[in-house]
Amino acid sequence: MPDENEKRILILGAGFAGLYTALHLEKLLGPGTPAQITLVDRNHYHLFTPMLHEAATGMIPTGLLLAPIRRILHGRRIRFLRARVDAIDLAARQVTVCCAQIPYDILVIALGSVTNFYGLESVREQAFEFKNAEDADRLRCHVINCFEAATREPDPHRRRALLTFVVVGGGCTGVEIVTELDEFLEHLRQEQYADLDPAELHTVLVEALGSVLPQMGPSLAQSAIRRMQRMGIEVQLDTRVTGLIDGELTFADERDPLPTETLIWTAGIRVPQLLDNLPLEKNRLGRIVVDSTLRVPGMPHVYVLGDAAQANHPETGVVYPPTAQVAYRQARVAAANIAADVEGGTYQPFDFTYIGDLVSLGRLSGVADPYGVKLRGWPAWLMWKFYYLLNLVGWQNRLRVALNWLLALLFPINSSSAPQCLPDCDEELCLLVENKL
Ligand SMILES: Cc1cc2nc3c(=O)[nH]c(=O)nc-3n(C[C@H](O)[C@H](O)[C@H](O)COP(=O)(O)OP(=O)(O)OC[C@H]3O[C@@H](n4cnc5c(N)ncnc54)[C@H](O)[C@@H]3O)c2cc1C
Repeated sequence: MPDENEKRILILGAGFAGLYTALHLEKLLGPGTPAQITLVDRNHYHLFTPMLHEAATGMIPTGLLLAPIRRILHGRRIRFLRARVDAIDLAARQVTVCCAQIPYDILVIALGSVTNFYGLESVREQAFEFKNAEDADRLRCHVINCFEAATREPDPHRRRALLTFVVVGGGCTGVEIVTELDEFLEHLRQEQYADLDPAELHTVLVEALGSVLPQMGPSLAQSAIRRMQRMGIEVQLDTRVTGLIDGELTFADERDPLPTETLIWTAGIRVPQLLDNLPLEKNRLGRIVVDSTLRVPGMPHVYVLGDAAQANHPETGVVYPPTAQVAYRQARVAAANIAADVEGGTYQPFDFTYIGDLVSLGRLSGVADPYGVKLRGWPAWLMWKFYYLLNLVGWQNRLRVALNWLLALLFPINSSSAPQCLPDCDEELCLLVENKL
């Protein structure tokens, strides 16, 4: 018989916010506490996003960034349910997953974010997102297919479009993927497509603001821009994309459209659609406004954390950025406050001082501003490597990633793609096959 006094704590999302809330909470609640913790996620793994750009280029196998949730929870008093959350009914205090309803007493919404296309339909339909493991594998596969198609493409205009790779968004994710991708393209050309003229390869970073990495300040942003330009990446600032029409990227100003087969969109995030319908106060990106204890004002049994939440620093009022660093630390505070809900005690405010950002800029280069100290070049790169290696889930994955990094310094990376990466069957390929057989 279920204990009527037992608190049903339901945590939605096993990302940085949700998973760590569950783990901290289980430690805080003693074995005899009448509480049941249930964690729900559509994936069976927890994804470590900070290294996703390295997975996209084959520097590290994507699997090393995926930590199986059941293995992490092994031996703990946390139930895991792999299911997609379809709806949240705050009035009835229940959540719909697939066809079932799960009732709760305390709810933690930690469903992360989705890509924001700002209403640009043509971009949404054709761009590559860069949010999850499938996106990383799909991108590598697509790049290889573009090179393959370019080798047999006689039309220079179309070949240029096949070999033009555009990243939109000059935040940390955009800058990391464009630099990593640029090195990968050159490596791929040298290794497998030496017939392609290197001058035809074209990597572009497009940013609507006047700078990349604006949160890091002008001097580090300039260092990052200089590094990208030295690599041969074209950095287009103050450039607003308006669409991707007939294979050409169009812009808000007078400049010529840019033909490309590859648009990687990292220009923004918003909350998942299922949170849109909740009758809660939200900011313009749909992030749900929470108080300093990470609860929804007027709903003390509902917590929102991570990318889905708009939390402000209790003294400065500054909005916390949507980063893993913030989500991970919010988890500890949310767990303490849920423990206070269950066992009594005082509530903690979330008043974390942001440490700063670490951004890798390809091989042996980066920028970082830990505690305001500005680092560039290899010291920032080394710091990036160490910090994220230590934060990766599971010592086995850490060891494997470290080994891959070491091997990548000594030998060329494996640029092959997964077997499901089928080439496009285009007209040029058909002609080639017919002529040769
Ligand atoms: C490529 C990339 C690189 C990044 N690099 C950094 C970095 O270097 N440093 C940093 O601090 N931050 C980085 N971030 C940001 C960081 O990943 C996010 O801020 C962080 O993951 C937010 O944590 P979260 O728990 O809110 O969401 P997530 O970690 O995204 O977790 C959300 C979870 O909810 C699950 N979910 C979503 N919808 C449903 C549903 N309907 N049903 C069931 N489950 C669902 C998802 O599967 C996921 O497991 C990066 C992000 C990306 C995309």
